[in-house]
Amino acid sequence: VNETHQPEVASAAPAVPEHKGQVVIDVRDLRKTFGKTEVLKGIDCQVHAGEVISIIGPSGAGKSTFLRCLNGLDTPTSGSVIVNGYDIADPKTDIDKVRTQIGMVFQHFNLFPNMTVAENIMLAPTLIKKVPVDQARARALELLRTVGLEEKIDANPDSLSGGQKQRVAIARSLAMDPDIMLFDEATSALDPEMVGDVLQVIRDLANKGMTMLLVTHEMAFAREVSTRVIFTDAGIIEEEGTPAQIFGNPQSPRLRSFLSKVL
Ligand code: ADP
Ligand code: MG
Repeated sequence: VNETHQPEVASAAPAVPEHKGQVVIDVRDLRKTFGKTEVLKGIDCQVHAGEVISIIGPSGAGKSTFLRCLNGLDTPTSGSVIVNGYDIADPKTDIDKVRTQIGMVFQHFNLFPNMTVAENIMLAPTLIKKVPVDQARARALELLRTVGLEEKIDANPDSLSGGQKQRVAIARSLAMDPDIMLFDEATSALDPEMVGDVLQVIRDLANKGMTMLLVTHEMAFAREVSTRVIFTDAGIIEEEGTPAQIFGNPQSPRLRSFLSKVL
């Protein structure tokens, strides 16, 4: 990261990696209202290829809603969300096509319980991308190897630990060859001893240059892997910067208060 070029005082300017890729996510004045509650109050955010962005902030800040607006699981009330050039809010946009390019992993893994691990991973590629079964299985094996679970290829999800299930869920997401990955508290539901293995998979993806947005409560991990950290509170981006700025020199009282509770 280009910390050496950063002045020690944190600035409001977003930090981007030195090899600044093209903008792959462009969010402008995103607002989302549920009933009378405005949950997102004007989010502006540009994500460049290769960035790893951690989103931190208190519960209820709108972090999940923000991620869900990026892949069309939630529809913005106003503002624009452009992903890989596709306008998510445009009814003419083929949202299924966008979703093949932007994978999402949730706190609860949602594996299909009546299918084996291989079948879980092969389902979308064979169904949506029409990948031949033998090819899809070979790819499933390869992905399971990268998450350290190749021996579980024919296991039932029920027989796996939480951490193993989450690694299968990540492999399943990667099977569509997305170029962006969203993680929403991917380790929050795991027993502590399972967290490290899942974080290692995410770390490997970061090192391979995957563009990622991670909502996480793992502050040490966010500090280690992120090119940029975004602190959200009450539906706005309250502060953003490099990990060194956000964790080492936080400016806003709300961020300072948040960090004092979680660090
Ligand atoms: P975070 O992920 O930061 O904890 P969320 O995005 O899940 O925050 O939620 C932000 C706020 O929006 C919360 O007050 C939550 O109750 C509300 N909210 C989220 N989804 C819905 C929904 N589908 N209907 C009504 N309110 C919702
Ligand atoms: Mg959430």
